[in-house]
Amino acid sequence: MGVKQAETHGSPSLEVIAVTPRGYCHGVVTAMNMAKQLAARDSGPKYMLGYLVHNEHMTAELEELGVELIDSDDRIAGLDEIGDGTVILTAHGVSPAVREKLSAKGLKSVDTTCSDVQVTHDLVIDLAERGFEIIYIGKRGHPETVGVLGEAPGKVHFVENSSDVEQLELDSDQIAVTTQTTISVWDTAETIRSIKRRYPHAEIHNDICLATQDRQEAVVEAAAEAELVIVVGSTRSSNSKRLVEVVKERVGKPAYLVDTVADIRYEWLEGINKVAVTSGASTPSHLTREVIKNLKQYPNPV
Ligand code: SF4
Repeated sequence: MGVKQAETHGSPSLEVIAVTPRGYCHGVVTAMNMAKQLAARDSGPKYMLGYLVHNEHMTAELEELGVELIDSDDRIAGLDEIGDGTVILTAHGVSPAVREKLSAKGLKSVDTTCSDVQVTHDLVIDLAERGFEIIYIGKRGHPETVGVLGEAPGKVHFVENSSDVEQLELDSDQIAVTTQTTISVWDTAETIRSIKRRYPHAEIHNDICLATQDRQEAVVEAAAEAELVIVVGSTRSSNSKRLVEVVKERVGKPAYLVDTVADIRYEWLEGINKVAVTSGASTPSHLTREVIKNLKQYPNPV
């Protein structure tokens, strides 16, 4: 897969490759639209249970519309802070225990779980009902991981990498593998290879979403051509951090995560002729446009 329709912007001193695809994915767009529609129609108390998407700028936009952030990675504990009103469940999905507590408290909810995350929930439920032991590859403590593990406690076995795979003690004819949506394509392939070595009969379901896969492949391709990569995104954003990691690990080029143009350190650019810019799935487009515009002006940034 190439750097799809990469735009290049010439400059006497610095060429900027705007990597495509980058930025918003369908899950983030849907979640934000659902939250804004709720804010427009409901004058009662409204809450997002955790960061709706992992980006502070988009969170601030929702807070201005009257949606209060419950800043807790523990979704169940977070519900203790809410007396009444409507709770927005994030695109990362939640465990059944969260839904049960919502219902027990009599709270209304708007569920923005991304359809790609829901696929994994449905798969885990189905596999568990059919008697499978399920190995889930993800990031420890990430809300998406917590939500999926909660679908079949005791039947889903969490691993982050190949060394975790070595610690597994499964003895079953029916083993299946599934994954978090936003992890590294290449690290996951390696972890799956380790699982296949230990459990050759394991049924593999790689659930990294297409948005994540396309963005990772495009930035790796661009990084091969560029000398430096800048990823616009929040340090809270799993998929943004993965973009930085895959550049460093797959291509061995320097890569930096910036929240806004203000985070760019111009010493990074000394001696650099070509820089690639991409952004995470939850990064507002205008922040990425500002970074590209600024770099195009280098060495006289606007
Ligand atoms: Fe959905 Fe993938 Fe976007 Fe997450 S990154 S919200 S799984 S499309």
